[in-house]
Amino acid sequence: MSLIVQKYGGSSLADAKKIKNVAYRVAATSDAGNRVVVVVSAMGDTTDELVELAYSLTDQPPAREFDILLSTGEIVSSTLLAMTLEAMGYAAISLSGAQAGIKTDSAYSRARILGVNPKRIEKELDKDRIVIVAGFQGVTEDMDTTTLGRGGSDTTAVALAAGLKAEACHIYTDVEGIYTADPHLVTGAQSLAEIGYEEMLELATYGAKVMHPRAVELGELFNIPILVASSFKNSPGTLIHGGVSMEVRNKVSGIAHDLNVAKITVVGVPDRPGIASSIFEPLAEAGISVDTIVQNASIKNITDLTFTVAKGDLSRAMEVIRPIAESIDALQCASDSKLGKVSVIGTGMLNTPGFAAKMFSTLSREGINIQLITTSEIRITCIIDEAKVGEAVHALHRAFELEQAK
Ligand code: ADP
Ligand code: ASP
Ligand code: MG
Repeated sequence: MSLIVQKYGGSSLADAKKIKNVAYRVAATSDAGNRVVVVVSAMGDTTDELVELAYSLTDQPPAREFDILLSTGEIVSSTLLAMTLEAMGYAAISLSGAQAGIKTDSAYSRARILGVNPKRIEKELDKDRIVIVAGFQGVTEDMDTTTLGRGGSDTTAVALAAGLKAEACHIYTDVEGIYTADPHLVTGAQSLAEIGYEEMLELATYGAKVMHPRAVELGELFNIPILVASSFKNSPGTLIHGGVSMEVRNKVSGIAHDLNVAKITVVGVPDRPGIASSIFEPLAEAGISVDTIVQNASIKNITDLTFTVAKGDLSRAMEVIRPIAESIDALQCASDSKLGKVSVIGTGMLNTPGFAAKMFSTLSREGINIQLITTSEIRITCIIDEAKVGEAVHALHRAFELEQAK
């Protein structure tokens, strides 16, 4: 008997009819003779609504209370799915992240899974029950509920597949797999049959929200192939794994985009040892993660320092930075919150010249100004005006001939 972990995302559970659809799919997997553990996200936009509700009452929800609040979305969907399965004549039980043995650190809103204690799930599976686990949440050593960061139910699924030594980990969502670009933006985007962990990690980190980056990291770490497929259609989907063929590895896999980018520039910074740490340490202490950092070559020992943060962190980052800028005698602190990122990703770029030039010339032909550039061995990212991101993705998708990708 195989053990299969399936994860269903929020849009696949958005209403009672969709919950029934998921229940039929879970039941069919069980009928085929498998033991089934199902991880669920919150219904539809529930998590966004809970966030909005909290912020309608306070500008600074206490981190602990906020995580318990957000975790309730997944509790609701897990209980409803378990009830539906019971009503269909299947033995099922819902478990919270804590009951399912998901142990995390105490970094609220972005907790990392430290380990999985599979005992309770195994006990329920031994009673021939289908186990429904509330995704996106875990519990600290002190039994406080944490959440794993937006989109984190994917990570719950991969962690459980590793902890339970499952035969398969299936992520079911509202599209047919991993595409060459967001299929809701680019109609000509193609679904990929397979993709390697490294490329998927870059796509996910740079905006392709179809997979939570940490889920891909865990998949790679424990060598778990992850199938991403549709909750609604029986199409083959995309396999994320480590043994991707040479032909696939020689290409650009996709274009990712992210509209959640804000930029801060500290102008006229004295260029001396210790300045960067005096700026970035306090930001780290405030829990603000900084992405791209660019420091200009200094003229007469004065330089400009630019970096990006998530839009939601901008006002807090400015509060941290302003007094520091003053204390180091910087001239000015400026910010821009209307930015986006577009990234070209593929192992084909490794040690091959010409990809960056092609990206820059494509953007220039479209009249798109590049504000900042960052790269990894298999990725080139340009930070541009947020209003131009859609155009940029379309143009790059054409320029790298991704309509033909398979
Ligand atoms: P779920 O609710 O199932 O977790 P998400 O909304 O988190 O689903 O992720 C699925 C969405 O990711 C798709 O609807 C799609 O718009 C978006 N997406 C962005 N980039 C890609 C990509 N390269 N391939 C597939 N989907 C993508
Ligand atoms: N419900 C959470 C979110 O909206 C987790 C998830 O969907 O994976 O971010
Ligand atoms: Mg998701």
